Amino acid sequence: MGKKRKVEQLFFLKEIGVNFLSPEEAEKIRRELLIKPANREKGEETQKRDKISPSKEKFLKEIEEEVASCKRCELYKNRKNYVFGEGNINADIMFVGEAPGEEEDNQGRPFVGKAGKKLTEMIEAMGYKREDVFIGNIVKCRPPGNATPTPAIRRTCFPYLQKQIAIIRPKVLIALGNVAAQTLLDTKETITRLRGKFGEYQGIPVMPTFHPSYVIRNYTIPVRKAVWEDLKKVLNLLNENS
Ligand code: SF4
Repeated sequence: MGKKRKVEQLFFLKEIGVNFLSPEEAEKIRRELLIKPANREKGEETQKRDKISPSKEKFLKEIEEEVASCKRCELYKNRKNYVFGEGNINADIMFVGEAPGEEEDNQGRPFVGKAGKKLTEMIEAMGYKREDVFIGNIVKCRPPGNATPTPAIRRTCFPYLQKQIAIIRPKVLIALGNVAAQTLLDTKETITRLRGKFGEYQGIPVMPTFHPSYVIRNYTIPVRKAVWEDLKKVLNLLNENS
């Protein structure tokens, strides 16, 4: 491929928000992404119709107050901030991660570090903006040293997310990585086996895919392709049900 063509493709990928994919895939996915504007308009109409319910806001606020004063596990001792989650409370899509990292702990917001940038790329590649979706974690406080939260901590904190899901009622959940997928699907299977196949949590379809941090660490075409395939399945599901 000529240098000029390659540069054009990279610009094109950047423009459509899928620069986490390989340039070689641009043409292949372009046609699929062209469907996107129509879907997005539909999404925006739905959001306008679906005015923010005061009771949803109120219930979420109540849960957030509980989290803010929570001492149910040891993680409260070292947290700078709890990370409740953020986004559109009428979202069709809810992304679920593992636990806050250092940057998230500093800011009290989910996915704001490098992994957050990658997640934003994934969301934009789907034709959405970050504020269109809801983003939360299984565990609300940072485990020291970014350790994987123990099963006991996950069990203790998960009820907060369960309540958030019950209130927001997304059409689909995207589980990012092992901890989110295993907790939502109540399984010990690893993400490598779970990804790409819809599971179910309380009647809501769950698509497990790789965590954005994993994508950053393993920035290979097969990994990026796998994530994109998973996200496309979610878009197809939403299209079918719209
Ligand atoms: S991680 Fe969850 S259960 Fe533990 S203190 Fe924080 S909010 Fe409470």
